[in-house]
Amino acid sequence: MNNEEFQKQKIAYFSMEIALKNDIFTYAGGLGVLAGDTIRSSADLNIPLVAVSLISKKGYFKQEITEDGRQIEYPQEWDPSKYMKLLPETIEVKIKNEKVKVKAWLYEWRSLIGGVVPVLFLDTDVDGNSEENRAITHYLYGGDEKYRLKQEIVLGIGGVRMLEALGFRIKKYHMNEGHCALLALELLYKNGTDVDKVRESCIFTTHTPVEAAHDKFSYELISELLGEADLSLLKKYGGQDKFNMTLFALNMSNYVNGVAQKHREVVGGMFPGYTVHAITNGVHSYTWTCDSFKRIFNKYLPGWANEPDFLVRVDVIPEEEIWHAHQEAKKNLIDYVNNVTNINMDYNTFTMGFARRATGYKRATFLFSDPERLKKINRRYKMQLIFAGKAHPKDDSGKRIIAEIFDHIKKLKDEIKIVYLPNYDLDLALKFVSGVDVWLNTPLRPLEASGTSGMKAAHNGVINFSVLDGWWVEGCIENVTGWAIGPHPNENLSSWDTYIREKDDLYNKLEYVILPMFYNQRDAWIQMMKNSIGKIAYYFNSHRMMRRYVTEAYL
Ligand SMILES: *Cc1c(COP(=O)(O)O)cnc(C)c1O
Repeated sequence: MNNEEFQKQKIAYFSMEIALKNDIFTYAGGLGVLAGDTIRSSADLNIPLVAVSLISKKGYFKQEITEDGRQIEYPQEWDPSKYMKLLPETIEVKIKNEKVKVKAWLYEWRSLIGGVVPVLFLDTDVDGNSEENRAITHYLYGGDEKYRLKQEIVLGIGGVRMLEALGFRIKKYHMNEGHCALLALELLYKNGTDVDKVRESCIFTTHTPVEAAHDKFSYELISELLGEADLSLLKKYGGQDKFNMTLFALNMSNYVNGVAQKHREVVGGMFPGYTVHAITNGVHSYTWTCDSFKRIFNKYLPGWANEPDFLVRVDVIPEEEIWHAHQEAKKNLIDYVNNVTNINMDYNTFTMGFARRATGYKRATFLFSDPERLKKINRRYKMQLIFAGKAHPKDDSGKRIIAEIFDHIKKLKDEIKIVYLPNYDLDLALKFVSGVDVWLNTPLRPLEASGTSGMKAAHNGVINFSVLDGWWVEGCIENVTGWAIGPHPNENLSSWDTYIREKDDLYNKLEYVILPMFYNQRDAWIQMMKNSIGKIAYYFNSHRMMRRYVTEAYL
């Protein structure tokens, strides 16, 4: 792509993390995967979008786990020049009264069926910058608050300047989470602080359902790093006490959305007075469908990859072929597990998976709330359990969760085969979500804004068993598309009563519904697998999501 072609891209999509490929380590979890799927669908659908992020040359981290469940982190260096090219343009941002030079790497995401989305990865590791400034774009979510604010200055302010230097003529700026909200500050300055004008061009997708988790910076730090910024303007739109990136993004955007219907309500409650829309997340169908299911979809539902709506016709696929495709994916996962561990799992035992960032609200240990009950169920119907997930290096409680799971694995090892796989990443995620029989999710409500791994599972005929939060409130039809754990949010139970119901559902449904069906009613099971594809995957994909962004937010 050259600068002339750049002029055609009208929407700039900003995200702190982007998951493009397994070994481009510019992602940490779901937010980055969503950004990657946004780019993949935009390319397929010829949406004129350019994405902007940071190069994170030293990655997030590589995870090793010791035998007693301690997470060890290693840097994950990678070489951008293997995948992308460094553009000649240089722009500058001012941080702490120093001029920081910023360059951009260009990755061209090419769709198999046509379009291209340019992705710019900003880099401050440039000759002429101080050692400290060269490191600003090294570590994704690394360092302290000050490091984070520097990154957000480069991403937001630097990003807008880089787009301009490259000749882009951007009409809409889409902020994927609040990290990039300083782009609106740059737009304010470019537009003589005309807030209405800036609002017309900004879209904000918020992801975090807890107030405390929003990026906030003290005004001392803001003035230290952004010396020339107009504090009264920042306070007016970003909060009097602290500068709140979410609040600022909200005030600067004409279109604001949460990532599921339920999440819209939660955000509306946090920020009364703002109009919040909902565009429920989706996943890129072609990326998140394993080879064996791709084959049968190609055979029976040609065109499905670019029109995932076709998956609604899944019933034309014979049951045996669904089952064989699943067995192939399951074998692929079990072989992998048996290769990297000495657990010796088998192909025919009911297998349940749980993988996501190891952090408090995801409640990875919920399945072990009553180990005796789990053992008792396993004596009636054998099961195998597979876990994975990284804890952020500074999240001690997340690390404790991993250690606790290892503890449970040890205590149960003579009865139930359970493993925790290290280094959860894109490749492992596809193997994982396609290779288990049931995908488990037990978040603490209402903290799962959307969740996407269950949508990936559904693309592969894997059945969801999940707490009714995030996307699952919309996806779950009991005993048809999967099973719910705990009450519907409309029941308004106390947190204690909710917990009791969740625990009861978890064990009772496993023992009396899920396991008996898996082992004794294969036909009914396969029908539910089909429903996963035909009633979930056909809708919860990023093609539908992007078409909605185009018609509701971009146009
Ligand atoms: C899909 C994905 C996630 C997000 O999963 P959630 O269920 O939304 O938590 C995180 N990490 C990786 C590697 C993924 O592929």
